[in-house]
Amino acid sequence: MSQVARPLTEHFPNVQQEVSRLAAMPEVRSAMQWFRDQEAEFARWQMDLARIPAPPFGEKARADWVGEQFRALGIKEVGKDKIGNVFGFRKGSQDSVLSISAHLDTVFPSNTPLNVRQQGTKLYGPGISDNAAGVTALLAIAAAFENFGLPHEASLLFIGNVGEEGEGDLRGMRYIFSDSEWKDSIRTCLVLDGAGTDTIVAEALGSRRFEVIVRGPGGHSWSDFGAPNPIVVLGRAIHLFSQTRVSSSPKTTFNIGVIRGGTSVNSIPESASMRVDIRSSSPAEIDRLDLELRRAIDLSIQEEEARTAQQRDSSRYRSGLTAEMVPIGNRPGGELDPNARAVQITRAVDAYLGNSAQIQRASTDANIPISMGREAIAIGAGGNGGGAHTLQEWFDPAGRALGLERILLISLALAGAGR
Ligand SMILES: [Zn+2]
Repeated sequence: MSQVARPLTEHFPNVQQEVSRLAAMPEVRSAMQWFRDQEAEFARWQMDLARIPAPPFGEKARADWVGEQFRALGIKEVGKDKIGNVFGFRKGSQDSVLSISAHLDTVFPSNTPLNVRQQGTKLYGPGISDNAAGVTALLAIAAAFENFGLPHEASLLFIGNVGEEGEGDLRGMRYIFSDSEWKDSIRTCLVLDGAGTDTIVAEALGSRRFEVIVRGPGGHSWSDFGAPNPIVVLGRAIHLFSQTRVSSSPKTTFNIGVIRGGTSVNSIPESASMRVDIRSSSPAEIDRLDLELRRAIDLSIQEEEARTAQQRDSSRYRSGLTAEMVPIGNRPGGELDPNARAVQITRAVDAYLGNSAQIQRASTDANIPISMGREAIAIGAGGNGGGAHTLQEWFDPAGRALGLERILLISLALAGAGR
């Protein structure tokens, strides 16, 4: 997930007082005690959820399950939208909305053996941490508001959203902030993703991904020798693009992750393709690398055409080379104002809990609201996790209660719990 860490600076004393006041409220203290007593139930939720496959674009069963849990917790307004996000809504006294969300999807294809299990207190299974831990925290926080009648002025929108991972390309959040009935009223967006309590993602790592497809006339390796070769074009383009200079600050990266093409050893291929990932904390750098990639492909085609023209009787061989850059991912980047209320509140909560956390940059559901200039942060669900995006993924619930207390206090302060 995260890439760049920065130390925190001082928080504001009035926010600190407000956090202390909230934490001292009897109903809040009861909710916190409940978090500590409830681990067996949380582990059950987490394993039940992780046993439901949720590949990108296949989150329906998981969304249905979360909707059932919302209802079982007593939330009255529960629903789903057109693309499969599931909601639980608690009306507040104000029109503004605090959304608390966790993504439902995993990176694992639907036929992945899930083998979700508990050994000692640790939980194991693909997606157990990313993001069954986040969804479990979402349910625990919703339950706390329902069971203990916790105050909130802003309305609370609990969201299990689709499409965070890979080719999902943040489609769940995109929909919420472009088409949903709450798109204008969500004032702050709290994203729960993965385990831990040591980060505050307030900087959105932008990325752009392409499938580059080069096509040519193809032909026989012997009789058509000299005809332009899309694999050679790609090879040269990769060579050229790989020499692009990138800065370490703002950190900028690129990767050729997949390459495909050709049909047999004695055929000049008709097409070849590659998948390219470009990331940077600077949108301008992403634009620059996008241009460099286009230039490398154009130049490579020109060179292959020149070679073909030289090598063969060009009247006999039309070059016919084409290249296409198909966008397969576009995650907008951006940064939250370091003085934003959500950051100040989170720092104050961390100071109250004696928790140390750092501002980090990552690619999460918070990218969408942050890139729109809205207030959003992503934090972990507590506990510890590892092996994300592998079959060996694990979650250790030690410290889960701390994570839930942190989320709850941040939520209470963001929602404005009246005096
Ligand atoms: Zn995640």
